[in-house]
Amino acid sequence: MNLPNRLKHFTWKACNGILATKESLFRRKITADDRCEACGSHVETTLHMLCFCNRSTEVWNSCKLSLPFNIQESWSFLDTFSRLRNYWDTQQEKLESWVAICWGIWKSRNEVRHAGAKRPGRVIVRNALRLLDDFHAANELPCQPSSNTQDTTIWMPPPPGYFKTEAKALEMGVVFAKEVGLRDVLFEADSQVLINAVHGTGEAASLVLNIIQGVLRKAQGFRIFHFLHTKRQENAPTHLLAQQAQKVESLAVWLEECPSQVAHACAKDVSLFQSSI
Ligand SMILES: [Zn+2]
Repeated sequence: MNLPNRLKHFTWKACNGILATKESLFRRKITADDRCEACGSHVETTLHMLCFCNRSTEVWNSCKLSLPFNIQESWSFLDTFSRLRNYWDTQQEKLESWVAICWGIWKSRNEVRHAGAKRPGRVIVRNALRLLDDFHAANELPCQPSSNTQDTTIWMPPPPGYFKTEAKALEMGVVFAKEVGLRDVLFEADSQVLINAVHGTGEAASLVLNIIQGVLRKAQGFRIFHFLHTKRQENAPTHLLAQQAQKVESLAVWLEECPSQVAHACAKDVSLFQSSI
């Protein structure tokens, strides 16, 4: 299929049953339940979320793509995808549209789950198909971030307010981890002063005292939690993401997947780690 990388990645994960649905997270003991949060009445499997939940049927009712057969609830995503691929063997554009709309439903589901706006089905369809059209028109994805940003680890003094920003970022991380139902968590920050303050081994500036107290209070809900200091130079993916975040208009969340913008930096970290053991 001729698809943008993010759609290929999505398809690959869905086919392998490792999309971070509630069912998948529950199976791996990451969340406490497997209920679909949109309808509350079914286990949120990949196929339920994409094809059978009332939220997804609204999307499919808004599009003109007609399927050659009725998808069965007992099928897996891989079953469905394989059957469609066989049926649409000579009409690959239909399969690409189907995948793009599935991806649109998944993206919208994640946005809603993280307090984003709920988009009407027709908007989800339009945006997904537009992404596909734009990709086909350009025949390739827009350029990745320039490589010269990847090794920039020159230390610079923190600007005013930096410490408070770090504290707020930590607080948001704790809130987010609770929202997605994580139970065992490890938080990293590159401010040693902040981590010392969380551990009670340093003076918490009065400016962030309330934030730190809130962080510690919220963290009590986790089964296991740690706050660690990580040197900025050793945390390249985070800083690449922070650079990218300036260009992102809405919330972007990755669960159990590696954003393409930092794949290179993550691969580098993994290989360094592997060579050290
Ligand atoms: Zn549902």
